[in-house]
Amino acid sequence: MACLFGHKWNGCKCEKCGNTRDEQHDWDLCKGKCKRCGKMQAEQHDWDGCICKRCDKTRDAGHDWSRCKCSRCSKPRDVENLTDQSVLADIASNGDIYSVRIKATEKLADENLKQKVYANIVKSDKYYNDKKMKRLKK
Ligand SMILES: [Zn+2]
Ligand SMILES: [Zn+2]
Ligand SMILES: [Zn+2]
Ligand SMILES: [Zn+2]
Repeated sequence: MACLFGHKWNGCKCEKCGNTRDEQHDWDLCKGKCKRCGKMQAEQHDWDGCICKRCDKTRDAGHDWSRCKCSRCSKPRDVENLTDQSVLADIASNGDIYSVRIKATEKLADENLKQKVYANIVKSDKYYNDKKMKRLKK
């Protein structure tokens, strides 16, 4: 059925013939898709730090670091780019994720502290000991 006397637009789509127009889309911003006609655009999330408030998608920015991981999305911290020695020392001494802790320790500038932390990790972390034993046996 053609709409000879004008379409009956409901947003971007004609209710009568199903034609679409490129205006008044009903965007699902997180999916970047019009709910009515399926047209796509770039996703637009409502970021609150690293998490979208609407759809819970996460991004690799705006993390809320608490020592070894993001307190919001639990992403392990990438300590490679960390230069703040006090933060590194805190992670190395008190961190709760083994791999992050080791990396932070490796970046410590203070050799004394580094040795101390290594000693602590070896003492306290059974996992590390097990791994070391296995490596020695090979
Ligand atoms: Zn129409
Ligand atoms: Zn549309
Ligand atoms: Zn979203
Ligand atoms: Zn995060």
